[in-house]
Formats: sequence, C-alpha cells, structure tokens
Amino acid sequence: MLSAEIIAIGSELLTPEKTDTNSLWLTARLNEIGIDVKLKTIVGDDGARLEETVKDAMRRSDLVITTGGLGPTEDDITRHFTANAVGRELVYHDEIEQHLRERFRLWGREMPEINKRQAFVIEGAEILPNPNGSAVGMYVEMDGKMLAILPGPPRENQPMFNEYVFPKLQAVSGDVFVRRRMLKVSGKGESAVDEVAAPIYTAYPNVQTSVLFNKSEVEIHVAATADTADKAQAIADELAEKLAEALGSAVFSTHGESMEEVVGKRLAALGQTVAVAESCTGGLVGERLTNVPGSSAYFIEGAITYSNEAKMRTLGVPAEILDSHGAVSAQCAEAMAAGMRAHAGTDHAISVTGIAGPDGGSEEKPVGTVFLGYAGPSGVKSVKFVLPGDRYLIRWRSSQAALDYLRRQLGK
Ligand code: AMP
Ligand code: MG
Repeated sequence: MLSAEIIAIGSELLTPEKTDTNSLWLTARLNEIGIDVKLKTIVGDDGARLEETVKDAMRRSDLVITTGGLGPTEDDITRHFTANAVGRELVYHDEIEQHLRERFRLWGREMPEINKRQAFVIEGAEILPNPNGSAVGMYVEMDGKMLAILPGPPRENQPMFNEYVFPKLQAVSGDVFVRRRMLKVSGKGESAVDEVAAPIYTAYPNVQTSVLFNKSEVEIHVAATADTADKAQAIADELAEKLAEALGSAVFSTHGESMEEVVGKRLAALGQTVAVAESCTGGLVGERLTNVPGSSAYFIEGAITYSNEAKMRTLGVPAEILDSHGAVSAQCAEAMAAGMRAHAGTDHAISVTGIAGPDGGSEEKPVGTVFLGYAGPSGVKSVKFVLPGDRYLIRWRSSQAALDYLRRQLGK
C-alpha cells in the first residue's frame, strides 16, 4: 500500500479563522484508491520550515501533496522552497506567462508584473493546467517518489487533482479499492450501539469500522477494502445491512443522510404534510426541514411561539394549561401540536417546548427539560427528555429529537 502525506501551506491555516479543508478532501480521494494518508502538516508562510518539511516528507512517504502558496504575492513561497527541497532549479516558461497575460486581457486588465513569478516551474516537473485560476500546479517524480504541488483554493485544486493527479495515482496504487457506508443511529449512546455492533463488525477483518458520537447521533462508519470496486461495495453493503438490521428502528439513516432528509423523503413518499410549533428551538426544526431541497412538497408552515401569549394566540393553547402546568409541560406540548395541526390543516404537526438554559431551570424541571408534542391521524401525544449540554447543544438536540419523534410516527 502506498503511503502519502499532505502539506497544507499558509499562515492563515494556523489561525482559528481558517481551517485546512484541502487535506480532508484529498485524504478522502486517496482512501478511495487505497492510498493511506499517514501524516499531514500545516506550515505557515515560512521558507525554511517549508523546505525542511517537504524534504522530510519526500524521504518517508511515497506520495507528497502540497496545497497553497502558489499565488503571485510575496508570501507565496511554495515554488521556491519546494524546488530547494528537491534540489532542482526553477525554470521560466514563456508560454505560461503568455497564457497569464491572455487571461488578464480577457478580464480587460493588464497583468501585474508580479504575476510573472507564476511562470516559474520546477525543472523537469509536469505542468498541471489551472482553468480556474492563475497558478499552475506541478507534478514531479523523483527516486520513485511522487510530489504534487497544487494551488490553495479548493475550486482550483480539486478539478486539477481529479484531472491530472488522480489518474496517475490510480495507475500505480494497485488493485486496492475502498468503499464506504455510513449509518446514523438516534436515541442510543455510543457504547450501547457498539455493544450490538461490535460482535457483527469484528467478523469483517477487511473492513475498518468506527463508531463515533456526533452531537446528537451515533455514526457507524464502514470502509471495506477489496481488489475490485464492486467487491468492496458488496462487502460494505453486506455489513451495513447486517448492522442496520441488528440495531432496528434506532437506525434512521443508512447512507449518511441527515435526519431532516430522511423525514422529508418519508413524508414525500407518503404524500403527507407537516407543520411545526416551536418554542425553545426558535425555528431550528423548521429551518432544518426547509433546508432540504423539495421540502415545499410537505412542509406547510411553522410558528415560533416563544411567549405564553403567543402560544395562546397563535396555537390556541388554553390559559388553564399554562397556569396549572406551565409552558414546559406535556400538556402544553400536546396543545401546541394539536393547535398547529388544526390551524395548518396538515397530516402531522410537531411541537417543542423546553428549557435551553443556562437560566430558567428548577429542581422539578432542570435545564435541558424538553417536551415534544405530536398530533396526527393516530391522535395527540408527547414525550419528555432531559437533554445534556449547553444552550446550543440543548437546542440542537431538541430539534433532532423532535424530527426523530416525527420519523417514528411515520413508520417504515
Ligand atoms: P494560496 O494558494 O496560499 O494563495 O491560497 C489561496 C486561498 O486558498 C486561501 O486564501 C484560502 O482561502 C484557500 N486555501 C489555501 N489553503 C487551503 C487549505 N489547506 N484548505 C482550505 N482552503 C485553503
Ligand atoms: Mg497563502
């Protein structure tokens, strides 16, 4: 198996303002053809560090990919220091300069002289054209090692990688194919999921399986390796199906879809409609449902009824319920859902009312107490959760629980 490493270049990537996403995208692409990414580095715009990093990388890895630092400005140092690292000169290519001048002319501008820098290429490197920007990429083979030097912006380096680098790697990576599946599970913790899943996935030694918790759901990632793509896919599918069967209705997603996509697909298939009445989630449930393209087929309306007044006026929640049980109660959640369903004339309505904190909790109803209401053809009901987390997480988890509650009413 070939080993790879990725070097992301740019001082901004060392700050909290800008995240290196290039290495994540590249890693996913490389894994598809069985190339293992062993290490990634972020180097600021520092020539000595960069040269040293590229040298080390070329010594220990079969494939090295750099991104960034190919712009025309003073801080774009990749050309110079990668050339140093591989002990080669930079050579000037007149045709690149002419091409750049032409690009600028098409935009109705003169090429600034500093862009000439982008016409220098490492001696003996293959030039990787960049139809989406001014910096060409480079590909160098040396002592059985491969070095690809790509521009920083994803919209430039992704097409460049796909078109010019990926086919070369595919040709040398041997017959190793990796295919993935992702299941998502709600209403169960990581260890409870693993208790069911581990006896199944440990029987597949050629599959890398990981179980991880993500905000409000547990994800099971399955990556199967085989000598053909079809075989890898078949193994991944087989294991995913077995896991889904064992975990039952807690599995809400079998191909990595989000909860709102799953609920939306189900509603669309049934030809049914939904409306939402929200308090503590402040519109998050409606936002998530309408984030899915095509949601107008089933999402009718939502109301953010934050105050008691609004719950009474908009949803017809009786004052007695608010007086005797409070806004955060099963009775209120049910009245909200029933009121919304009657008002919107939908097949289903869901409601959320709870205490997102940090203030407002009591002994009887601590922060995180959330009631979800449902009204539908089968009647009106509610469920209570006490969700952990800060305000952000409680609101998010409430929205997830509400969508999951709706999902469970919709059946298979
Ligand atoms: P550069 O090629 O260094 O001039 O980078 C140009 C732009 O590409 C930067 O401003 C970033 O927006 C983007 N970029 C560079 N490196 C990365 C990276 N590793 N991940 C995501 N975006 C990047
Ligand atoms: Mg930069």
